[in-house]
Amino acid sequence: MTLQQELGRRVFDGFGFSSRSASLFARPQSGEELAAILRRAGEEGLTVGLRGSGRSYGDAAMNGGNVVLDVTGMRKILSWDPQSGIAEVEPGVTIEQLWRSTLADGWWPAVVPGTMFPTLAGCAAMNVHGKNHFKVGGTGDQILDAELVLPTGERKRISREENSELFHAAIAGFGMLGAFSRIRLKLKKVEGGRLKVRQIPARSLDEQFDLIDEHTPNSDYFVTWVDCIKGGSSLGRGQVHQAVYTHGDEDPEGKSLMDPSRQDLPGHILGVPKSMVGIILKLFRFNTGMALLNLGKYLASELTPRSWYKQGHVAFAFLLDYVPNFRSAYEPEGFIQYQPFVPKEHAREVFKKILRLQQARGLPSYLGVMKRHRADNFLLSHAVDGYSFAMDFAVTKANRAELWRLCHDMSEIVLEAGGRFYPAKDAVLRPQDFQRAWGQERISRFRALRRQVDPQRVLRTEWAARVGVDEAG
Ligand SMILES: Cc1cc2nc3c(=O)[nH]c(=O)nc-3n(C[C@H](O)[C@H](O)[C@H](O)COP(=O)(O)OP(=O)(O)OC[C@H]3O[C@@H](n4cnc5c(N)ncnc54)[C@H](O)[C@@H]3O)c2cc1C
Repeated sequence: MTLQQELGRRVFDGFGFSSRSASLFARPQSGEELAAILRRAGEEGLTVGLRGSGRSYGDAAMNGGNVVLDVTGMRKILSWDPQSGIAEVEPGVTIEQLWRSTLADGWWPAVVPGTMFPTLAGCAAMNVHGKNHFKVGGTGDQILDAELVLPTGERKRISREENSELFHAAIAGFGMLGAFSRIRLKLKKVEGGRLKVRQIPARSLDEQFDLIDEHTPNSDYFVTWVDCIKGGSSLGRGQVHQAVYTHGDEDPEGKSLMDPSRQDLPGHILGVPKSMVGIILKLFRFNTGMALLNLGKYLASELTPRSWYKQGHVAFAFLLDYVPNFRSAYEPEGFIQYQPFVPKEHAREVFKKILRLQQARGLPSYLGVMKRHRADNFLLSHAVDGYSFAMDFAVTKANRAELWRLCHDMSEIVLEAGGRFYPAKDAVLRPQDFQRAWGQERISRFRALRRQVDPQRVLRTEWAARVGVDEAG
């Protein structure tokens, strides 16, 4: 039987469900099975798109008409050393599995995205960042070594010392240089189950930047919420969230939260049952409605005391995971997230310009989040020494073409300033934007590696095809 006859079919989408496609579906249980599927796909002229938990917003883990290879069947923690905090995992192990297995020993994943459901392979392939990126870097900076299965069937151990070029390109290589089949990484030692957290309102985008610059040097985590609808002198107002680890006997009560089952969250947010949040968002999902919700959130932040309080790691890191169906607010056409990364010298002006542009076009983002970042050594990493601004936009039949045009115009402003974009969030990038964001030299080195490890071009995703990762350059 051929692979094509053997595999079932499934429809896949991204987390933003703004596009969908049907594919053949494979879910190997071992590295051998994974290697065999890649090899057989190559022999049959099929392409393979690697997929973790499918938490990328756009088309980065989709491969319509060909094979989607889901690695979540390989989800064993192969070893865990509570002395050194080093774990070795299969690619489908999730961030959730990891913290649930390590917190009682006093370790927390050093880098976590805003959701705990991604796999470690998905995090490595995107070089995921957390709210502490400015301090510890991305997932790749925590990885000691890994094993890659190449489409040729060969298995390569990669690390900073061994096959170093491939290591620095496969991390942040969006699944185009081989499949991670094993990852060894170091976690962060924590002394308590809670963080010290505080929130400060920011009256404008300038004030947001001032607060970030003033407080990140003394923070372990930092993130800001931005009201993207309010204009004028309040343009970019919002609220910053700062967190630091507790040490020693600072939080005796928080010790009990080292028990992972005590980290799970209650069923209410600000007195509202979480199951209602999606419904409320849906009712307010138009510009004036969201302006009202933002106003309420901003005024609440003005009234919130600025003093420190304690919050569990999970509540701080993964609040959205405890809001079932918040995405239903964006049904039926879904939503996109657009996240530019801009060098520090230009970020203030660039973010003001793109906020003004979306407001002028009547297409403001309904949720904006800013973070501080640092640069790293991974070939096609999105990281820059600067700031990112993630913005959610509702997609409708009526606004789709106009929204894409807006994103392309915002990208022009970002690219002028030497910025990049985050493939895990992207739905709009064009080949010319990809070229300008990473530059010809880096892209040529990536293509040269592709020719070595995947001469038949077996690996493919809709994102990679859209931005022209393989175009002759
Ligand atoms: C609510 C929410 C909040 C988020 N917050 C953040 C955040 O704060 N910071 C951040 O950085 N990201 C964030 N993300 C994005 C998310 O962390 C990334 O998209 C991550 O890559 C998802 O992992 P996954 O397992 O779902 O991978 P998928 O989305 O399924 O795939 C991601 C990439 O990994 C590749 N891949 C999958 N398996 C392998 C493998 N075995 N070997 C090689 N490549 C492989 C795929 O081809 C694809 O290119 C968020 C996403 C959501 C939904």
